[in-house]
Amino acid sequence: MKAVRTQQKYKCDFCKRRSIKSAMERHEKVCYRNPNRFCGLCENKGFVRIDINNDGSLGYDEPCHYCSKFDPKMKKAIEKYEESIISNN
Ligand SMILES: [Zn+2]
Ligand SMILES: [Zn+2]
Repeated sequence: MKAVRTQQKYKCDFCKRRSIKSAMERHEKVCYRNPNRFCGLCENKGFVRIDINNDGSLGYDEPCHYCSKFDPKMKKAIEKYEESIISNN
């Protein structure tokens, strides 16, 4: 019988999530608990431009629904979601 090398797991600095290094490096940048997280959707502007005609002639700004997850009301839901990820591992 031989011992198999398992990959070292890394833990997120901001939440309870853990995974292999490359996955956690990606995760930490966008972790909802990370106060300096980068939002890939709105690029940290806090809103996204909804372009109705797809040519910039008509549109409106909508609050980014990813950033709105900072909302304390959403915190519980996020925690629940995170728990479900962890328990699925
Ligand atoms: Zn995290
Ligand atoms: Zn955003």
